[in-house]
Amino acid sequence: MARSALQVFDQVVAASGLRVREGQRLMAEQVALTFSEADLGKPPEDEDGPIEALEPQRSIAVIQAGTGVGKSLAYSVPAIALALARNTRVMISTATVALQEQLVAKDLPALANSLPQPFRFALAKGRGRYVCKLKLDRWSSGSDGGDGDAAWDAEDDLFAEEARPTSAGRSVSLAQEQVERQTFYQDLQRQLERGRWDGDRDQLEQPPEAAWWAAVAAEGSSCTARHCPAYDQCSYYAARKSLVGAQVIVVNHDLLLSSLGSRLLPELDNCLLVLDEAHHLPGIALDQFASSMDLSRLKWIDKLASQAVRTGGLLAVSEVAEIPRISAQLRQLMLDLARLVMHHHGAALKGEEAPAFGSRRGGAGGLANQPGRYRVPRGQLHPELIEPLAQLSHQAQEFLDALRAVSKALRAEIKAQPDQAKRLSQLYAQLGTLAPRLEAVAATTQLMLQDAAEGTAPAAKWFTLATQGDYIVLQAHASPTLPGATLRQHLWSVVRGAVLTSATLTSLGRFDFFLKEVGLFGDPCALALEVQSPFDFARQGRLVLVDDLPDPKDATAYNAAMVQALLRDLQQVEHGALVLFTSRAQLRLADESLPEALREIVLVQTALPRWQLLSRHRERVAAGQPSVIFGMQSFGEGLDLPGPLCEDLFITKLPFSPPDDPVGEARAEWLRQVGRDPFTELVVPATAIRLAQWVGRAIRTEEDEAHVTCYDRRLSRTSYGQRLLQGLPPFTRITRGGPSGAGGPARGA
Ligand code: SF4
Repeated sequence: MARSALQVFDQVVAASGLRVREGQRLMAEQVALTFSEADLGKPPEDEDGPIEALEPQRSIAVIQAGTGVGKSLAYSVPAIALALARNTRVMISTATVALQEQLVAKDLPALANSLPQPFRFALAKGRGRYVCKLKLDRWSSGSDGGDGDAAWDAEDDLFAEEARPTSAGRSVSLAQEQVERQTFYQDLQRQLERGRWDGDRDQLEQPPEAAWWAAVAAEGSSCTARHCPAYDQCSYYAARKSLVGAQVIVVNHDLLLSSLGSRLLPELDNCLLVLDEAHHLPGIALDQFASSMDLSRLKWIDKLASQAVRTGGLLAVSEVAEIPRISAQLRQLMLDLARLVMHHHGAALKGEEAPAFGSRRGGAGGLANQPGRYRVPRGQLHPELIEPLAQLSHQAQEFLDALRAVSKALRAEIKAQPDQAKRLSQLYAQLGTLAPRLEAVAATTQLMLQDAAEGTAPAAKWFTLATQGDYIVLQAHASPTLPGATLRQHLWSVVRGAVLTSATLTSLGRFDFFLKEVGLFGDPCALALEVQSPFDFARQGRLVLVDDLPDPKDATAYNAAMVQALLRDLQQVEHGALVLFTSRAQLRLADESLPEALREIVLVQTALPRWQLLSRHRERVAAGQPSVIFGMQSFGEGLDLPGPLCEDLFITKLPFSPPDDPVGEARAEWLRQVGRDPFTELVVPATAIRLAQWVGRAIRTEEDEAHVTCYDRRLSRTSYGQRLLQGLPPFTRITRGGPSGAGGPARGA
C-alpha cells in the first residue's frame, strides 16, 4: 500500500513539472509508511466480542520539514492516496486560518485536478462560526416567538450584565445599542433570505461585535437539530452536509480538540490524521481543557432558573421543583466564595501588597486595564475555599441534571407536537444560551478541586480581578499544567495513524522537548524524522551577532542602546526588512525614537491591520523603495516575505516566553519543587523553537539572501545562547563589537 501511494506521489510531481526534491520525497515516503501501518476501525466481532485479541497497531510520525521542503504536497498526496485505497478519510488540522485557506483555496483544488482518482474535500468550522436561523429570527424581529417574552427584555441576553462599550471603544446608551443591534440582525436576516450571505461569520464584510454575534451563533447547547423547524435552511447543518461525502476534511486544532468524543468529525480511530503547524498543538491543548467561572456577575443564575422552572412546568418535569432551592444555594455559594477569595487574596488582587510567591502585582486598583491576578502556589487552595468549592460543584451538577431533564422533555415534546416546534425550539434555545455558564461552574470547580496524582503536576489555579465597564469582575480559573499528559489522555488514546509536522519541531537540535510537550515522548509507536531544507543556508544567510550592547537584564540601558544600534542599521536598509520585538513597550520605544526620515519607511504592526500593512510593504518594495515592518511575536511566525521583501531581519531580544503566564509559572514552580530546573528544561527549549521560527522569516526560497541581526549578546556569550545557536540554520556567522572589539566574520557554521 505504501509503495503505490508513493507512486502516486511520484506521478503527481512528474505531471506538475515540479523538480524532484530529495527531502520532499523522503517525507512522502515516511507519510505513506506511517499511514499504511496504522490499523483503522474496530476489530471484527463475533458474539464473544472482538475476534482480534491484539491491540490495534498505532503509527505516528513526527516530521520536521525545513523551509522549502514542500511539506503540504509531501503529506497530502500519500495521505489521500492511502485514504482512497483504504476507503477512509484524511483529516488535516492546522493552527492558523492562513494555512487552512491555502489548503482549501489553492493546494487541494490543484491536487484534485492532478490525482488519478477523484476525491472531495471540505472545510470544517466550529458551530459558533455559523448563524442560528432560529435565534436570528427572534432577535431581528424583537418578537417573542409566541412564548410571551419579548426578545428585547434581555431575558436571555448573555451579555445583559456586561460592559456596554462596543469593541470600537464607543460608549452607547442601552436604548441606542438596542436599535443598532436590531438593525444589525435585520440586515443579516435580509442578506440570508436573499441568498447574499450563507450564514458563515467569516463571509461577512466586517467582523461583527463579539457580543452581538454570540447571541445568534449556532451553538450546540441551544440547538434541537433535526427537531428544529429551521433545520432544512440551517447554515450550520448545510455546511456539515458538505462534510459527509468528503474524503479530505480540513479543520483547525481548536475544533479537533473541542470535538473529541462528539460525532462532529470523523472518528479518530478510523481516519488518517495530519497535524500541520504541530508546534502549536501543546498550547492549544492547554487552552481547550482550561476553564473559568465568573464569581461576580450572577444574574444569569436567576434567569436560567426561572426559564427552566417555567418550561419544565409546562411539560410537567418533576425535577424542576428543586430548581428554586438549588439555584438559590448556587448563587449564595458563589457569593460566599467570592467573599472568601477577596478576604484571603483581595490585597494581592488589588495590588495593595508586595507580590507574594505565586501572585502578581496589578489589580483593579493597580495597573489600569490589566487585571490583578493571584495564582495559587503549588495548586494548594486556601483550606477555607475547599468546602465551598466542593458544595458549589455539587449544586452545579444538581442544577445541570435538572436542566437535562427539561431539555429531554422539550425534545420529546417537539417531536410529539411538530406544529409547536418553533415555540418549543426557542424555549430550548433560551435555556441553551445560558447553560454553558453553569457548565463552566461545574468544570472549573472540578478542576480546582482535582488532586494531582503522584509524580504529576497539579492543575494551575488562579483568580483575577478586573474592571469591565461599571463592574468589578472576579473570576476563578483552572488549567491543566502539562500539555503532554492532557493530549495523551484525550487524543493519543484514540488516534491510530497520525503525522505531525512543522518547520520547527526540534529544539536545540533534538525532538525531545516537543515529544514531551505533545505527549509522545517514549511512545513506541511514534517516530521522529528531520527533513532538511534544500536551501544552502551558509551561502544564503548571514547571522550578525551584536556583542557590544549592555546586558538585556538591565532593560532600560539595554533598550536604549539597542534602539540606537537599530536606528543606525535601519539607515542601511535598501529593500524590505522586518524588525521583531519581544514586547509592546520595546516596540513603542523604537517607534517613538524614529527620526523623520526613517518614520516614512517604517510600518508598525499596532498601527495598521495586518493585510493592509503587508500590502503597503509589498507596494513599496515593488516600487524599489525601502520598507521596514515593526512587528511582535505574531509576525515572527507564518509570515512569508520572500526575495527583497525581507533582506534584513532584526531580532531585538531573545524571545523568552512572557513572564505573566500563570500556567507556565505553575509548571516552573512544580519543576523546581521536584528538583528540576525550569530554565533548562522549559524556558530554553521553548525559546529555541520561537527563535528558530523568527529566524525562519529570513530565507524563504532558494534564491533568497538575507542578513539576520540579533542585538541580544546572551546569544553569543552564554552557554544556553550557544545551545540556541546550534538549533538555528547554519548561516555564516559574523560577530559585531564585543569585548575585544572584534568585527567581521567570526566563524563559519
Ligand atoms: S438547527 Fe440548530 S443551529 Fe440550526 S437554526 Fe435550528 S436551532 Fe439554530
